[in-house]
Amino acid sequence: MQIPFFPPDLFEDDRKVMLDLIREIGVAPEQKFILGEHTRVFEETLREELGAADVIACGSGTSALGLVLRAMDIGPGDEVVVPAFGCAPLASAVLEVGAHPVFADVDRRTLVVDPDDVAARITHRTKAIMPAHMFSVMADMPRLTEIAASRGLRLVEDSAVAQGAVMAGTPAGLWGEAGVYSFVQVKSFGMPGEGGAVVTRDAELGARVRMLRNHGQRERFVHEVVGLNSRFDEIQAAFQTYRFAGFAERLARRARIAERYDERFASLPGVVPPPAARDGRCHHVYCVQSDRREELREFLAARGIGSHVHYPRPLPEQAAFAPHAPVGERWVNAEHACARILALPVHPHLTDDEVERVCDAVRECCEGSRVR
Ligand SMILES: *Cc1c(COP(=O)(O)O)cnc(C)c1O
Repeated sequence: MQIPFFPPDLFEDDRKVMLDLIREIGVAPEQKFILGEHTRVFEETLREELGAADVIACGSGTSALGLVLRAMDIGPGDEVVVPAFGCAPLASAVLEVGAHPVFADVDRRTLVVDPDDVAARITHRTKAIMPAHMFSVMADMPRLTEIAASRGLRLVEDSAVAQGAVMAGTPAGLWGEAGVYSFVQVKSFGMPGEGGAVVTRDAELGARVRMLRNHGQRERFVHEVVGLNSRFDEIQAAFQTYRFAGFAERLARRARIAERYDERFASLPGVVPPPAARDGRCHHVYCVQSDRREELREFLAARGIGSHVHYPRPLPEQAAFAPHAPVGERWVNAEHACARILALPVHPHLTDDEVERVCDAVRECCEGSRVR
């Protein structure tokens, strides 16, 4: 009996709704497949729930980051401080607008960017800092907000993985001047396809993003600025609006699974569970650290349990981004994380029995082989 990392039945319960929407939108007289009424309702649903000034649905989380940087006029000659550990868009979105990513190391335990290292890397060219929430842990937004304010920098929040998390009463996405969400299936509010959103408490910034995502126009065929094509699908918008009702419940299920993992891995030799806390958490991924990661991964695979390594290499050590990083520099905590992290299944469809099977397997591997 397999326990896959990505469950193939994630959208099974909603299959009929999806099929009906395809038909309904497909044959509707207006023949509107992007940025129509369904997208407007979806944006408004998220905006209202968050209490944001604006929510702009767009093509992906990656392009959401790019849209925010463009809307802030960040470009050639500017530096943006980003984490050295994380996914490619943190670096590529910055490069794509012609700016320069400056990589800050992460905290060894929490795996989110170290605010002291962010502060140390600010120069006269720095325009923005762009922290990212990582796996289940939100970045230290109170301190990063303070750094951005005291140094006069823009604050872009890569909250792609943290939709639904709240830190000190403020939702992920609203700490920054703008934040982003991704709706790729693996994310907390994932869907069967590609999409993202910009969320902001700044209505003016929102209006610029809204224009940029659709070829720089507010009015059809009137192009005020050079924009992009980063639009949102009407079928997915209607599907996500429908699924939003169950989102909190699915997140709560993820949190309960994570809590059980925490319990069963506490004081287990050889694995370090994520730092325990309730505030600022969103269990998009449950990631343990282990010195014998490969052994643990194979042990689980042999028992039909899927796991995942994201990310195997620090961003500045990737071939794509190394030319943009200082020669000879090391990001030791990012390297440490890349060698040790292993994500376990935490999707809301796991049954209690399956959760116990994952726990038993991890414990057996660690206790049996005395993984250090
Ligand atoms: C997934 C992700 C993105 C990009 O989102 P896509 O929708 O896949 O383009 C950006 N940043 C982080 C931290 C992510 O995990």
